[in-house]
Amino acid sequence: MFYSRDFDDDFKLKIGFFHFSSCSGCQISFLDMFEDAVEVLDAVELVYSNMLTKKEEIPEMNVAFVEGAFCLEDKRHTELAREIVEKTQMIVTVGGCASFGGVRRFSVGGQAPQPAHQSFVPITEVEILRPKIKYAIPGCPPNPSLLYNFMLALLEVNEEFLQPFEYMVLTKDASGFDVIKEVVSKGLCVGCGTCVTACPSGALTFNQTYNKPMFEASFCVHCGSCLGACPQSFKPYPQPVYF
Ligand code: SF4
Ligand code: SF4
Ligand code: SF4
Repeated sequence: MFYSRDFDDDFKLKIGFFHFSSCSGCQISFLDMFEDAVEVLDAVELVYSNMLTKKEEIPEMNVAFVEGAFCLEDKRHTELAREIVEKTQMIVTVGGCASFGGVRRFSVGGQAPQPAHQSFVPITEVEILRPKIKYAIPGCPPNPSLLYNFMLALLEVNEEFLQPFEYMVLTKDASGFDVIKEVVSKGLCVGCGTCVTACPSGALTFNQTYNKPMFEASFCVHCGSCLGACPQSFKPYPQPVYF
């Protein structure tokens, strides 16, 4: 971690928000969190945001929160990515688009108002950004309470809380299908229904007969909320041994 748990009262975590191809919903979810989170506001300094600050130049910062998917045809995205890497110590991808591709996975391209934009990848797959990406937050958008708790954990260096977000940087396919594949089909599901509650699109429903979630792929927006919320998804399980 780049700052100490025992930082003095004057310490302020310098944060910035960056926007790639997105609806800005993730950044708005942060604003919803700030309404109730005065203690967090006291400990952070917002040094850059395309929505909230008027700064042209990107200043140096501790943490860059990045939303949206990376457009492979947009040179401005490459330039912005280079500048972010130069100015920040750590990157946190926020939401399904930045972390796993999200709704951008469904883009067919060639549409107004940016017909040149046809192919997108999540921020977690962009080589120049990867070395600085420490955490990936799921959701479309992430719940403001989750963002608040994440920010608190970041400030307190609560590594136990942060660990699943670290795993999610490496989780490429965080869809409902992965919950079925990684949890249910391995017999790890305890039937708690948390994944169903976390799903914003109705892609997961709960089968009362089997006490297990059911997945409808055509509704899934690849936000990763189900995998992130499932209490069993990050549990290590014994690997089979073949002789
Ligand atoms: S993850 Fe959802 S809310 Fe966030 S930018 Fe993408 S589409 Fe918008
Ligand atoms: S099943 Fe629901 S919660 Fe899971 S990734 Fe798809 S839309 Fe998100
Ligand atoms: S959250 Fe995990 S354990 Fe709970 S029902 Fe969904 S898959 Fe099963």
